[in-house]
Amino acid sequence: MSNPLLHLQALPDFDAIRPEHVAPAIRELIEENRALIARLTAEPGTPEWDGFVVPLTEAGERLGRAWGVVGHLHSVKDVPEWREAYNGMLPEVSRFYAEVGQNLALFDKYKALAEGPAFADLSPVRRRIVEHELRDFRLSGAELPDELKPRFQAIQEEQSQLAAKFSENLLDATNAHAEYVRDETGVAGIPADALEAARAAAERDGQAGWKFTLQMPSYLPVLQYADDRGLRERMYRAYATRASEAGKPEWDNGPLIGRILALRDEEARMLGYRNFAEISLVPKMADNPAEVLAFLRELAAKAKPFAERDLAELQAFAREELGLPELQPWDIAWASEKLRVKRYDYSDQEVKQYFPEPKVLDGLFGVVRTLYGVDILPDEAPRWDPDTRFFRIERDGETIGHFYLDLHARDTKRGGAWMDSARSRYRGPAGVSTPVAYLVCNFPGPVNGKPATFTHDDVLTLFHEAGHGLHHLLTRVDELAVSGIHGVEWDAVELPSQFMENFCWEWDVLSAMTAHVDTGEPLPRALYDKMIAAKNFQSGMQTVRQLEFAMFDLRLHSEVDATTGPVPVDVVLRLLDEVRREVAVIIPPAWHRFPHSFSHIFSGGYAAGYYSYKWAEVLSADAFEAFEEAGAGRGSLLDRETGERFWREILAVGGSRPALESFKAFRGREPRVDALLRHNGMVTT
Ligand SMILES: [Zn+2]
Repeated sequence: MSNPLLHLQALPDFDAIRPEHVAPAIRELIEENRALIARLTAEPGTPEWDGFVVPLTEAGERLGRAWGVVGHLHSVKDVPEWREAYNGMLPEVSRFYAEVGQNLALFDKYKALAEGPAFADLSPVRRRIVEHELRDFRLSGAELPDELKPRFQAIQEEQSQLAAKFSENLLDATNAHAEYVRDETGVAGIPADALEAARAAAERDGQAGWKFTLQMPSYLPVLQYADDRGLRERMYRAYATRASEAGKPEWDNGPLIGRILALRDEEARMLGYRNFAEISLVPKMADNPAEVLAFLRELAAKAKPFAERDLAELQAFAREELGLPELQPWDIAWASEKLRVKRYDYSDQEVKQYFPEPKVLDGLFGVVRTLYGVDILPDEAPRWDPDTRFFRIERDGETIGHFYLDLHARDTKRGGAWMDSARSRYRGPAGVSTPVAYLVCNFPGPVNGKPATFTHDDVLTLFHEAGHGLHHLLTRVDELAVSGIHGVEWDAVELPSQFMENFCWEWDVLSAMTAHVDTGEPLPRALYDKMIAAKNFQSGMQTVRQLEFAMFDLRLHSEVDATTGPVPVDVVLRLLDEVRREVAVIIPPAWHRFPHSFSHIFSGGYAAGYYSYKWAEVLSADAFEAFEEAGAGRGSLLDRETGERFWREILAVGGSRPALESFKAFRGREPRVDALLRHNGMVTT
């Protein structure tokens, strides 16, 4: 029988695909792509769209889809055979993509296309695709003079080694520290489940009592609940100085930070930029570091008074009710938890009874139907597990796309929740392919014949992933490279997902998707009010903390002089102090070494990009405000006309035009920070 991974024009035949199909199919598709690239780059003359980009796109998509199915199965059916099949081919696939990115003959062909006589006649979308190709080649050093290329390559390699070492050091330092507590009074306040885990950990070491470590599930409960202030302080200090000069010299990330900054700076200058932040922003929605800094400063100026108010309330509470005249950094989480419980406590278990899965799904599909006039109908297709479902999206009887829904946790499924593309919309010589998406979550399943029930967090997660899904499925773009979520700027990609979360905080929408699992009663208003208040608890303090990280990251990559070699660690720490003086309300002790564990930017791909979290939140809150405005006049914010506009200007266009243009076309103006502040309860009354 033929290999089903080579026949993905229709939907993947999950009943037939086996691990042993992977290697032969993927190798054949890689070879097909290699041969095609070799043939097209050897052809004389100026390439044209139809004879050059189209075959490359289609061959690339055959490989992309097949490898996508393998990656998907590796995530949702992680049994040894699939893990082996995936891991076995991963190096060859990575090598192939790296090779394409470095293929100078291919780069020359794209350049010739862009300079050729027919380029001006291409549609703006096609020109944009070619320009992005050229940009990506340039950013990987393709245009450097030959004598500089080896140095550029060496910089890349050293950077990836340093990034790997940074996270290894952090992991080793995190794992190396433990606090043993022997007597009962020392663990007072810590919840039973955390204590049980701590007891088991001590036992594994052959010790009596409890063992606490710097890993989150152990560290967090201590800081939040342990009444022993000394234990909190010791844990806090150990956590705050991980991978610094306070520990083993071979795990000190300080020198690595200096070296990473110098290499990034050198790379930026070689490519003709003034600093690394400028490079980081090239493929993003934000134009330049100054724009991002101004954005962060505006938000900080508006949020800081609320953060100061949060802190003052916490200090007063600690003084009056906890007998702590002065709050130390290791008291903040503990005192905050006490204050939160006192003010807003409600149990997740109580809320959960009101969100049975069928009601929530109906609610979600209803929101989508009302906003966009589309129907979501059950459909049939081979699936990888009987517990999954398959749906068709239709408008006026016409199929727009399909999605798989895999909601429940299984032993063989990777944790978390995500949306992934199974197929993207594309109009080629053979016709149109409609998009197909995977929506995967890890919610608890039904028990004893009762429907599964969701926490409010689960509901938010479902709406979030559905938002990514709609971005992918409601696209109207015909070009594969920029249809759906493809080619969307990195700092704008969370707009449609975070946008959908907002509906889960609206009383009308939320109460309509609740029915108590036993009584059928809708969510009581008083419980909803508590949920809203708890959502905004200390939002000022949380906001300025995120802004502190974002501003430090951006200024580190745009202001610090790294031209003369590795940046001394005290220069890095001084900058952080300066940022804190501007935006923070809690100033950690001088021995705190936050940068040494800031893996997002030193080993995680977020360098000069940490701001994206807040950036996308601002966009999504501001977009949602358009629905609030429409609803104010009509009684419901599920406004069809605004929904049509959101679809047309944001969801339908995907990466086919700059995200800022799309936003402005929808909102009629530039984004503003006010809606986010208001949604987080930061309003002056
Ligand atoms: Zn997301």
